Amino acid sequence: MAPAARGAPPGPGPVSDTPLLAIRNLSLHFGGLRALDRVSLDVPSGTIFALIGPNGSGKTTLFNVVTGALAPTTGTIRFQDEPIAGAKTHEIVRRGIGRTFQNIRLFTRMSVFDNVWVALRHTPRGRDGTRSEAERVEALLELAGLAPKRDELVENLNFGERRRLEMARALATDPVLLLLDEPAAGMGQLELERLNQDIRRLRELGKTIFLIEHTMDLVMGVADRIAVLNFGEKIAEGAPAEIQANPRVIEAYLGRERPGA
Ligand code: ADP
Ligand code: MG
Repeated sequence: MAPAARGAPPGPGPVSDTPLLAIRNLSLHFGGLRALDRVSLDVPSGTIFALIGPNGSGKTTLFNVVTGALAPTTGTIRFQDEPIAGAKTHEIVRRGIGRTFQNIRLFTRMSVFDNVWVALRHTPRGRDGTRSEAERVEALLELAGLAPKRDELVENLNFGERRRLEMARALATDPVLLLLDEPAAGMGQLELERLNQDIRRLRELGKTIFLIEHTMDLVMGVADRIAVLNFGEKIAEGAPAEIQANPRVIEAYLGRERPGA
């Protein structure tokens, strides 16, 4: 029997050593504040990669740079071996990066169905040529467990449902890489378990997941690899067990003065 490819998901395509997302020496300064300070990291294709760190350590800023919402001060980002740093958000979506937001951004006075439909119409990736747009929206709502709520206004959804709808909307542009910014924030235990399963299922469907999360049970249970930011700098990277035992990580979470402050 052939040896199993290490960590590779089942499915077609050659196993590539080129990371799906490669970030090199990325810095972003807001005036004197180094929100990101020479960050380098690789997200391999087919993995669940987590980014953790205390509040204000630069995690969301990193997502904002990867998705083109902010241009970096210095550094490079390659996605599928093409440079993307500084590209416009719609171009980055078109290439196959989707995201959710830490502060949920949905059209609250529109229906569940319409929120996904708008996103799907927004990019050529949303069209697959075999199914109608409406059928694709229905399939995404089914996946998110929101089919029974398709006609409900978003303002009537509970928190967990809104988070799932954000994920369905991000999936509407058929991303290769899905960025999730604190998807478990505010969730109860049941919703957390469901989210854990949803993230694994997305990977089985061929998505690569780049996850910012504070809920350690979720991160340690679901991530293949974890990078840690502190004051904009990457201070550690490794498997969950290595990160949990890393003294610099423990120190960062227990708190210390900002260097030079
Ligand atoms: P995290 O997501 O890790 O909590 P953020 O990336 O949101 O952290 O923020 C990192 C730092 O950058 C914080 O000090 C924050 O106040 C600052 N920051 C984030 N966005 C901006 C902005 N648009 N302008 C100025 N400062 C910002
Ligand atoms: Mg954040």
